[in-house]
Amino acid sequence: MKTCPRCESSIDDEARYCSNCGAPQTEPAAEEFDEYVQRQARQVATESGATGDGVGDGPARGDGGESGFAPAAELTDRQQLWRRGCYVAGYGTTVVALTLVPQIGAFLLILGGIAILPPVRRLTAEPLGRPLKREVMAGLYAIFVLLGAALLVLL
Ligand SMILES: [Zn+2]
Repeated sequence: MKTCPRCESSIDDEARYCSNCGAPQTEPAAEEFDEYVQRQARQVATESGATGDGVGDGPARGDGGESGFAPAAELTDRQQLWRRGCYVAGYGTTVVALTLVPQIGAFLLILGGIAILPPVRRLTAEPLGRPLKREVMAGLYAIFVLLGAALLVLL
């Protein structure tokens, strides 16, 4: 048995961390702990940057070294923002269009609203091998909405 230098409780000789206060007991454990703390700090910095306007968060993520830590499956702030925007635009357009439904233009608006929903974009991956670009879906949305609006005004 040895004693933890921080809290002085007896701990196992093999222990990497103190079971009482959690202080790292070996050199590798200390390094690991340091890394963990830094990673947490970076994450907090990135997240707090995202709650702002999304413009001023350059320094928090720009140091290159951290990209190895970020899980690849996680969406970036920008992607999440885009995703949320797509849902809002898609549902908003569809709901408005439904109130106009007997008119032909409303159906185009509904198509546009559906086209921009993120799950639809994922569906395009099946026949095409990979999903259409966000810009393409946004373009489709714009075309449908413009055509629909034009028909609503003209007819
Ligand atoms: Zn301790």
